[in-house]
Amino acid sequence: MTLSGRAKLAGVIGWPVEHSRSPRLHGYWLQHHQIDGAYVPLPVRSEAFERALRSLADLGFRGVNVTVPYKEAALAACDEVEESGRRLGAVNTIVMGNGQLRGFNSDGFGFIENLRRGGPGWQAKEAPAVVIGAGGAARAVVAALIDAEVPEIRVVNRTRPRADAVAKDLGGPVRVLDWPQRGRALSEAGLLVNATSLGMTGQPPLELDLADLPMTAMVNDIVYAPLETPLLARARARGNLVVDGLGMLLHQARPGFAAWFGIEPEVTAELRRFVLAD
Ligand code: NAP
Repeated sequence: MTLSGRAKLAGVIGWPVEHSRSPRLHGYWLQHHQIDGAYVPLPVRSEAFERALRSLADLGFRGVNVTVPYKEAALAACDEVEESGRRLGAVNTIVMGNGQLRGFNSDGFGFIENLRRGGPGWQAKEAPAVVIGAGGAARAVVAALIDAEVPEIRVVNRTRPRADAVAKDLGGPVRVLDWPQRGRALSEAGLLVNATSLGMTGQPPLELDLADLPMTAMVNDIVYAPLETPLLARARARGNLVVDGLGMLLHQARPGFAAWFGIEPEVTAELRRFVLAD
């Protein structure tokens, strides 16, 4: 679609950004809704990051997504940060207007929307959840589970102090267990989430004995490349309901698109196919 002089502009800022699926995702929605706008990759070196944000605002950009390694720097650069960003210490979406930068973090929103759509029968308040991992993504997952009123969130991470820091920073009903206990942590759980990078293409699989996991538990992997990780394949084979990680990526993009382009976009099967076909 040809852009007019009034085209709405947004993009993804990071270093590198060539692997980001966000331009394809937002590009699909722009096309689908016939919006006079564009969403572009913005590779920016660290020394220029903050200056680039201000310049984009000056150029009339509606905002940006922020990806590695700038999610923490974005928090510091924003004039205003919503609770979702402050709580996680990281911003992944910035809305620009009147020279001001307003930041928030939509990863938790994307995670919980994906679970609710993928497993509509999941009763958050009924049973404990187990989260493997304690990195940036795990923080968003744990915060979203606290908000969903999950009664107990068991966090297990190879490096225990990182899990302790998640518990301390986020509060809530978080219980930290040691890495060798991860199999036993599954007993009576209603949800298991892999929030590590294990299982991703090029990474070893997550070694986790599923014997104690109830058959009623839902299993989610936030890794989406491959779509069916070894963990999801094993969980599916034993009969658990599984939800892949692509939906988290797609749903986390919705609030930014709505703020920049003025339309609430939908996550559809066609969108999933389009993003995967990349
Ligand atoms: P991160 O901050 O670097 O955290 C990585 C996590 O993986 C840590 O808990 C780390 O444990 C663990 N880990 C890595 N290698 C390990 C190994 N060999 N054995 C045990 N644990 C290991 O990364 P992140 O930003 O949280 O991202 C984690 C994954 O989530 C990535 O694959 C990313 O692509 C995916 N993700 C998906 C979405 C989505 O929308 N679906 C969104 C965000 C992230 P230690 O603390 O012990 O190092």
